Amino acid sequence: MIREKVPFPKALGYICTHVCELKCKRGEVNEAMAIRGIKRYATDHDTGSVWKGKGKQLQDTGKKVCVVGGGPAGLTAAYYLRKQGHAVTVKEALPTVGGMMAYGIPSYRLPREIIAEEAEVIARQGVQIEVNEKVEKPLELLQEYDAVLMAIGGHKGVRLPMEGNGLDGVILNADFLRNASMGKETGIGRKIIVLGGGNVAFDCARTAKRLGAQEIHLACLEAREAMTADDEEIQQAQEEGIIVHPAQTFERITGKEHVTGVDFMNVKSFAFDENRRAVIEKEEGSEHHIDADTVIFAVGQRPDITEEAGLELGRGNTIAVKDTDRQKESSVQGIFGAGDAIYGTKSVIMAIESGREAASEIDRYLGGDGDISEILAPVGDAEPYIGQCPGFGYLEKKQTQVDEPGKRADNFNLYDHGISDGDICAEAGRCLQCDLRLKIAGPSLWGDFAENKEA
Ligand SMILES: Cc1cc2nc3c(=O)[nH]c(=O)nc-3n(C[C@H](O)[C@H](O)[C@H](O)COP(=O)(O)OP(=O)(O)OC[C@H]3O[C@@H](n4cnc5c(N)ncnc54)[C@H](O)[C@@H]3O)c2cc1C
Ligand code: SF4
Repeated sequence: MIREKVPFPKALGYICTHVCELKCKRGEVNEAMAIRGIKRYATDHDTGSVWKGKGKQLQDTGKKVCVVGGGPAGLTAAYYLRKQGHAVTVKEALPTVGGMMAYGIPSYRLPREIIAEEAEVIARQGVQIEVNEKVEKPLELLQEYDAVLMAIGGHKGVRLPMEGNGLDGVILNADFLRNASMGKETGIGRKIIVLGGGNVAFDCARTAKRLGAQEIHLACLEAREAMTADDEEIQQAQEEGIIVHPAQTFERITGKEHVTGVDFMNVKSFAFDENRRAVIEKEEGSEHHIDADTVIFAVGQRPDITEEAGLELGRGNTIAVKDTDRQKESSVQGIFGAGDAIYGTKSVIMAIESGREAASEIDRYLGGDGDISEILAPVGDAEPYIGQCPGFGYLEKKQTQVDEPGKRADNFNLYDHGISDGDICAEAGRCLQCDLRLKIAGPSLWGDFAENKEA
C-alpha cells in the first residue's frame, strides 16, 4: 500500500520528516505512533513479492517526455509518466540520481545503496536515465520532446550579504555537502563555524565532525526553542560535541585573506513584521568573537538557474509556474516544473507529491486522462478489537536503536538502526486504528430487537 503512491518508500522510512506523526490521534492519548519507524521496518523487510511485476503499465503512446533532474520529484514524475505509456528520459547533472537524497542528506542518515535500489525499480519500468548531463537550455529540448519537466531542486547555497563573506575558508552548505558525499576535498579546516539553525546546518556540522574537524560551533538567529531543526537532530549533534549558540546575530566574518573567526552579538528579541522582514533587538554590550578557520553558510539554498535558460523565475530564484499545486506549466508552453525548483527546499515527501501532480498534469497535456493511480494490493479488513490489554492507553512509544556518540561521530555509517524486531509488534499494537470509525454503525435499539423477535 505504501508503494502505491511513492516510488521511494524505503528512503522515506529513514529520512521522512514524518509530519503525519504530528496529526496522529494516538498523540492525544499519550505519544504519537512511530509511523515512520513502522514504515521503515515494513520496507526493510519487503521482499517485493506483493508488488513486483504488478501495477499499471499502459500501452506506448508515442509521446516523449524529458525530465531534467533526477531527484525525488523528477524520478517520481518519470516513473508515473512511463506507466502512462510515454517514453521518458531523465537528464541528471551529477554522476548518480537521487538529488538531495544523495548529495545533501549525509549517508549516515540515508545509505546510498537504498537510493540506488529504489532508482533501479524506476529504470526497470523503462525510464531512460542519463547522468552527467547538465541541461543549460531547456527550451531546445522541445525540438526533441513533446513535454519537458524541470525538477532541478535547489543546489546553490545562499551567501549572506555581510562583511568577510568572500574570504578564503567561507564555504556554502550545498557545495560542502555535495563534495563530502562525493568523497571530494571539501576545503574545511580544524575549527568550523556553521551559520544557520535548520536541519541542513546540522547536517553540515555533523558532516564536518565526521570529516575530522576538531571544534565545531553552530550559531543561529533563533532562540533555542524557535530553532527549525528537529529536537532529535540538535540533541544528537550536541552529544557528538557540536557547540550550539542560539540567538546570535552574525556581525562580520573576520580575517584579511583567510577567515579568522566570526563576530557575534546576542539577540534579545527576534520576530518578523507584517512584511516578513526580520526585526531584531540586540543585547547592548554583548559583542563577542569565536575563532575559526572555516565558516559554512547554511542559511538556505536556491535553484541553480538564470534567466538565460529562457524561463520566467520567481521568488528565491524558483521556476515560476502558474500554480505550484494545481498548474505546473512554466512561462513556456510544454515546459513544466516540480519539486523544490518551484517552491524552495521542503521535503522528500513533498517533492514526491509534486512529482505525482506534475506527472498527472503532463499526461493530460499529452492526451491522457491524468489518472496515475494504481492498486498493488487489496486493502485488508481492519481488526476491530483494540485496547484489550491492561494499560493500553499508557503504552509508551518504542524508540529506535541509536549508536552511542563515540561509535557514530567519526564515520559515515548508518547510526540509527530503527525499531528492533522485539519492539515492532508492540509499537504497531499501540495504534488506535482510526479507520475503524468508518465502520461504526447506528446503535441497535431495544425496540428494533423486540420488533425482529416478534417477526
Ligand atoms: C542537506 C539537506 C538535508 C535534507 N534532509 C531532508 C530530510 O531529512 N528529509 C526530507 O524529507 N527532506 C530533506 N531535505 C529536503 C529534500 O532533500 C528536498 O526537498 C528534495 O530532495 C527535493 O527534491 P527535488 O527532486 O525537487 O530536488 P533535488 O532532490 O534537489 O533534485 C534535483 C536534481 O536535479 C539535478 N539538476 C539540477 N540542475 C540540473 C540541470 N541543469 N540539468 C540536469 N540536472 C540538474 C540535481 O543534480 C539533482 O539531482 C534535505 C535537503 C537538504 C539540502
Ligand atoms: S490510525 Fe494509528 S497511526 Fe493513524 S492516526 Fe490513528 S493512531 Fe495514529
